[in-house]
Amino acid sequence: MGIMQGKKGVIFGVSNNHGIAYAIAKQLFDEGADIAFTYAGEVMEKRVTPLAQEMNSKLIISCDVTKEDEVKHVFEECEKIYGKLDFVVHAVAFANKEDLQGEFINTSKAGWDLALGVSSYSLISICREARPVMNEGGSVLALTYLGSEFCVANYNIMGVAKAALEASMRYLAMDMGKNGIRVNCLSAGPIKTLAARGISGFDHMLKAAALKSPLKRNTSLEDVGKAGMYLASPLSSGTTGEILYVDCGCRTVYASIDEIEVIKSSLQQ
Ligand code: NAD
Repeated sequence: MGIMQGKKGVIFGVSNNHGIAYAIAKQLFDEGADIAFTYAGEVMEKRVTPLAQEMNSKLIISCDVTKEDEVKHVFEECEKIYGKLDFVVHAVAFANKEDLQGEFINTSKAGWDLALGVSSYSLISICREARPVMNEGGSVLALTYLGSEFCVANYNIMGVAKAALEASMRYLAMDMGKNGIRVNCLSAGPIKTLAARGISGFDHMLKAAALKSPLKRNTSLEDVGKAGMYLASPLSSGTTGEILYVDCGCRTVYASIDEIEVIKSSLQQ
């Protein structure tokens, strides 16, 4: 019997089978979880529906996370179908393409509001609506990236959005801990997904991460899927308000020997 047998949850942010939300969903499903899926817009509905059906989902529901009535509706429907929820996965982010390149100083007020509204505030509204339905406790998991702590070229506004997401996660962990609900972030190394393609120079980010990494490779969807399953499941029962880094060790390295070799050889040319 899988570790998630009898556990029910909702996942926000599946786009296709190359995305992080799908990788986590698959691991949870393989361990026996019953999963509801949300999608934003008609294009996503067409992509998400067959993936959710593969996992025998009882609820595939529209939700633009910037619309609070839609977030509320998701949890009302979850309560009707499942009675309770044990886990929620927030794998949603968005910023205008022009705010993911060039100088951060040029970020517009509208671009800031959009990026932080979709990518950070949504965790607060999701937790608020989820709390009454997570009536036996459980786990909320949000996806983040190292650009929240360090400057990563071109990540710009999304770095600020992830910093707000991580700080919100800690305050939400305090609020929801009273209800036996844990709230954590998983900080993934760069992976070439639909959203990642919007970040200028993403292929270079991937190469730089592999050069820096002690494991000498990029983070895989499977790495993130397995760690996401751990955080969403009772296996992580004593962990809340934390960030788990699933980045092949990149965060622990300032300069790797491989990076130094690349600089040396470029100076010799
Ligand atoms: P993705 O494109 O597969 O997922 C992003 C999802 O956000 C999509 O399903 C999209 O429909 C959804 N979304 C955007 N705006 C929305 C809105 N208004 N309402 C509801 N949903 C909306 O890309 P991904 O890289 O798998 O991203 C999943 C999460 O992982 C994001 O939070 C992202 O920042 C984070 N993350 C990604 C990487 C990476 O390198 N790919 C690294 C660390 C963290």
